[in-house]
Amino acid sequence: MSSPVVRAAGIRLGGGLGPVVLAVACVAYVSVWLVAHDSDNLVPGYLGAPVAMAASFFACRRIGSQIRISRPVRGFWRQISHASILLIFASCAGAVLANDDVGMSMYTAVPNVVGIFWGMFALGRLPLSDKTPLARLRILLDAVTVAVAGTLIFWYVVLSFAPAGTGMSARVAAGMVGVAGLLGLVIIGKAAAVPGAPVDSLALRLLAIAPMVAVVMAVVLIAGPPGPRLALAVLGGPLVAVAFTTSAYRQRITLAAPAPHGPGSAPPAAGTARSRRTLWDLLPFLAVTTTAGLVITVSARNMAGRERAVIIGGVLIVVCVVARQLLGLRENKRLLAGIRTQQTELERLAMTDPLTGLANRTRFAGALAERLGAHRPVTVLLIDIDDFKTINDTMGPAFGDQLLYQVAQRLRQSSAAHDLPARLGGDEFAVLLDADDVPIAEEAAGRVLQALAEPFRVGEDHLLAHASLGVAIAGPGDSADEVLRNADIAMYQAKAGGKAAWVRFEPRMRQDVVNHARLGSELHNAIIRDELYLLYQPVFDIGTGRLHGAEALVRWKHPARGFVSPGDFIPVAERSGLIVPLGSWVLREACAQLARWQAAHGDGAIKAINVNVAVRQLREPGFVDEVAAVLSETGLLPDNLVIEITESSVADGRQVRETLTALHEMGVRLALDDFGTGQSSLSLLRAFPVDVLKLDKSFVDGIADGEDRGRLAVAAAVAQLAEYLQLSAVAEGIESAAQLDRLRDMGYRLGQGFFMAKPLPAEEAGNLMAANPIPVV
Ligand code: C2E
Ligand code: MG
Ligand code: MG
Repeated sequence: MSSPVVRAAGIRLGGGLGPVVLAVACVAYVSVWLVAHDSDNLVPGYLGAPVAMAASFFACRRIGSQIRISRPVRGFWRQISHASILLIFASCAGAVLANDDVGMSMYTAVPNVVGIFWGMFALGRLPLSDKTPLARLRILLDAVTVAVAGTLIFWYVVLSFAPAGTGMSARVAAGMVGVAGLLGLVIIGKAAAVPGAPVDSLALRLLAIAPMVAVVMAVVLIAGPPGPRLALAVLGGPLVAVAFTTSAYRQRITLAAPAPHGPGSAPPAAGTARSRRTLWDLLPFLAVTTTAGLVITVSARNMAGRERAVIIGGVLIVVCVVARQLLGLRENKRLLAGIRTQQTELERLAMTDPLTGLANRTRFAGALAERLGAHRPVTVLLIDIDDFKTINDTMGPAFGDQLLYQVAQRLRQSSAAHDLPARLGGDEFAVLLDADDVPIAEEAAGRVLQALAEPFRVGEDHLLAHASLGVAIAGPGDSADEVLRNADIAMYQAKAGGKAAWVRFEPRMRQDVVNHARLGSELHNAIIRDELYLLYQPVFDIGTGRLHGAEALVRWKHPARGFVSPGDFIPVAERSGLIVPLGSWVLREACAQLARWQAAHGDGAIKAINVNVAVRQLREPGFVDEVAAVLSETGLLPDNLVIEITESSVADGRQVRETLTALHEMGVRLALDDFGTGQSSLSLLRAFPVDVLKLDKSFVDGIADGEDRGRLAVAAAVAQLAEYLQLSAVAEGIESAAQLDRLRDMGYRLGQGFFMAKPLPAEEAGNLMAANPIPVV
């Protein structure tokens, strides 16, 4: 199999260049003959034309049979090959008549004119963009103007130079060829100026040499001196053939190596097409002005004073109208230039983020796709400001805008010249890197995070903001969407891993996302199909050993996977929003269970039930009403319910804080779960109406052997803090007697853990209540 390069070269050398060489050789032969011939026999000079035209027929025919090109373009070249045949006839007729008369005759003119019209007809059939009825009418008017002007000039000027004995038929024949040539010139010129025309524009312009030669031939053959007449009579055909063959050759080259403005991509630069179009647009005006000059000259010669005045007046009016048209043309151009400037400005605005001045998502996605399309190395850094919503809610949107602006500035400063920083929306930014090297990408990610880690100064305030960053290096065949999605996945991993960090995408992460998505849809069914149930982990008074309360913990028994840990499905539920219906079910079920226990065990029953609530639920506008409704439906009082929330959910924003305050005012108690693992524990305790602190299990682990003094210190401090603030402290995850003893010594009154009891089914937890107040520990 030959490579495309070899095939392209084959096209050029095999069938493409041969006819051109032959046509040029004919021109050379005829030129040499012109200089060297010494007999009266002119026939050998005329023989160059049919041979050259045969070459042009061959060249056009070959393109017309290329199945790789579109049907209309093929048809066009076939029609041009027909025109070549007509010109072979014309040149043969010329050769036969050569020794009688060198000038124009009907035998040569008719095939010439038919050939030109056949070529124009071929152009008319092409699917050009300018094909509205109005555009056709404009072309027709231009053509008629040029034809009328051409006929008049030919008749009054050219023919006045014709030798005295020139016959009528020769005059008409030359006039026909001249005018047809002019018309051909207008039509080809118009077609070549249409942007994105299916036939190559340069090929069309080369083709336009043919009617030009026809016009010159018509003039010189009828009115020229004998020497040039003979030269054009024999050279005209070969020159036309050179025009045809080079034009066909040009079309072949564009086929072998498609031009950058091939199908599917942008049309050629509008500027070049415009400047060409302006030239052709002026042609009819030139024709009108020349005709006006002619009319004045003729009338000055032949008419009486009064008639001459009328004619000159009429011509002056025509000239004024033409001048006015030209002014209108200029004005239109000026307006067009203005529109184009505005368009450029609008395009710029449409590609820019108004707040930060960075590229926006559209521009970023476009640049990314372009680089991928050009097979250039690409890495995307996706940056999301951590807890931006909280900052915006607490400090106000104007502050948030200022912060975003400064983040943009830092991204700009930390980017290299060929990188593209962008704001994709909200607090999400991205940088497009010209690299696919892991160390370079990671170094850039580190540089961006470092740039953002410096405190921001907004007005009088100083603020530390962090960001999570996902790095995605484009692999072969990746689309823009895929690269962005990969960066997004990596960024979420960075968030899930504790924020303020970067993570590089790895393909296994995609699998995690797929698994999560699958789990999400299965969880949706689980809620509908009653696959969820609750266990209750007792909370004990570790001083007396009595049962104090219980925490409701959700469980999922998957029909195929078996038991699924809440550690796996709660994050999925939170991300998908399914936590809202799931949490509602847990709240209702836990409250109903407490009501059943109270009915069954009276005073022995626990006083309150702890329910875990995710921040996503707290953001729901109707959450407070829902809690009130559940309490009233189950006949519980607000102090029968303890809602467990994490520290990070308290920091979520104003709405969540308002919800928590409303719950507290209603009388529902709030517990800070996993206390000590969050970031801003102490300030939260002041700002937020908390009742219970649940010391995280990680502080209880290893408490007994006293090795980890840091954790020991936190556990002790939390107990003291709770006492000082009059909150109750619960130690979580107690697994041994030694831990229990140490916690008791530290001042903890309440505890839960596998040492005392694992999460139990409602019935077993109920049995403990039946035994209450018998100490369990
Ligand atoms: P959490 O709220 O901190 O719940 C305590 C977790 O620690 C429970 O895990 C419990 O089984 C476990 N645990 C208790 N004592 C011990 C111990 O001595 N040793 C050990 N190793 N573990 C102990 P579980 O049930 O797997 O729940 C995990 C997390 O899932 C919970 O942490 C909570 O954040 C979430 N979760 C569970 N149920 C719900 C729910 O209904 N709604 C929401 N939003 N989250 C829930
Ligand atoms: Mg909990
Ligand atoms: Mg906990």
